[in-house]
Amino acid sequence: MQSKDINADIVISGAGPAGLALSALLGQAGFDIALIDAEIPAPPQDKPSGRTAALLNGSVNVLKATGIWDDLKSRATPLKIMKIMDDNGDNIGVEFHASSIGHEQFGYNIPNSFLKSALLARIGKIKTIRHFAPAKLQSYDIENGKVIARTEDGRTIRAALIIGTDGRNSIVRAVANIDAKKHDYGQMAMTCLIEHTKPHNFTSTEFHRPGGPFTFVPMPGNQSSIVWVEKTDDAKKYLAMKREEFEKAIQDRTKGMLGTITLKSNPESWPLMLLSSESLTSPRAVLAAEAAHVLSPIGAQGLNLSLRDIASLAETITDAARLGEDIGSGTVLARYERRRRADIKSHVIGIDGLNRVVANDMTFIKDLRRLGLKGMEKIPAFKNFTMHQGLNPDMDQGRLANGQPL
Ligand SMILES: Cc1cc2nc3c(=O)[nH]c(=O)nc-3n(C[C@H](O)[C@H](O)[C@H](O)COP(=O)(O)OP(=O)(O)OC[C@H]3O[C@@H](n4cnc5c(N)ncnc54)[C@H](O)[C@@H]3O)c2cc1C
Repeated sequence: MQSKDINADIVISGAGPAGLALSALLGQAGFDIALIDAEIPAPPQDKPSGRTAALLNGSVNVLKATGIWDDLKSRATPLKIMKIMDDNGDNIGVEFHASSIGHEQFGYNIPNSFLKSALLARIGKIKTIRHFAPAKLQSYDIENGKVIARTEDGRTIRAALIIGTDGRNSIVRAVANIDAKKHDYGQMAMTCLIEHTKPHNFTSTEFHRPGGPFTFVPMPGNQSSIVWVEKTDDAKKYLAMKREEFEKAIQDRTKGMLGTITLKSNPESWPLMLLSSESLTSPRAVLAAEAAHVLSPIGAQGLNLSLRDIASLAETITDAARLGEDIGSGTVLARYERRRRADIKSHVIGIDGLNRVVANDMTFIKDLRRLGLKGMEKIPAFKNFTMHQGLNPDMDQGRLANGQPL
């Protein structure tokens, strides 16, 4: 029988995509990891989920460092063109081509089901990772310079550091007493897969509409994934529709750009919120990914920002261990906080602002929005600058996101 008293270097609470990727990076670097999750992991998935993540090249570099890319690449679709359209029927919009800044693609669209399956398979092969699930973190204390984490199924894990990648309702954040600013957008995102008669030409198109954005993102062949945001009451009405009516509603919103649409998966829905934690650290505890920040899916930035957190955290911890430092010390954790603060803050403010402007139906704001898109299309230098900033923000991206080893 497995002992319920466990010693590890690091406890990672939360095995979503962020916690799994972080476990893989730190486990490969030789740290003894106890990864716990409240839920039993899903069995390996061979079908794409309707929810996908558009991941930029820097994020793909982080995934490559986890060792899953060779298996995942054939299931990922390159994003070569990104279009933003104002949904007013007069085709005002801006089109970004990766080739115009010397890249083959901006990144890849990856179904969440495939991403999680690949990461779970990877951590199963790393000997220094022990994955306990279901094992919900209940609380933790700090005693004699060690974290003592307790799970609902009666395990006690001693480690130098606890990392919260346990999502928007993070227990690590609650026990660490870190405040978070929260705002319920009163919006829901509906997701599904569609097949279409016209090719997508590896283009992701985001329509800005009063209820929220409507986006189609390329999948293999003539398929795309949909992220459709509406005010919650309206989304519920759409979700209650018969299949053909829902299909027709999507057909109308794609403006004939993809030809005739067929629904390929049942629609699912996700409530949207903004969350921003006041701090990323407290004694011997650190937050990353959605435990620290939750964004609207507009602009597809959430997991990209989270993968930069975990890359930066893996680098900070590994560098500290190489120097013989205590990886859970305040000095080391403060380095991570310093590295991540500006990137997180600018994205939380920027994406929140964008979501509010797009969902605003006031004529003055609508006109400004359209003027912005027109202006960007007309000034190539500004457009190229925007693309460069999107791919390589002017801040410390770290080694992994730049394709270098840990
Ligand atoms: C509709 C939609 C579309 C999106 N599209 C994109 C996109 O195109 N590109 C992009 O970059 N991002 C996108 N995002 C954001 C992205 O999906 C999320 O940021 C990401 O999935 C969150 O991963 P995570 O690992 O931080 O959290 P989660 O996936 O929420 O994982 C948290 C884990 O913690 C576990 N947990 C919770 N409490 C406990 C506990 N007490 N003890 C132990 N374990 C616990 C949970 O079981 C879960 O497994 C999108 C989001 C939405 C809603």
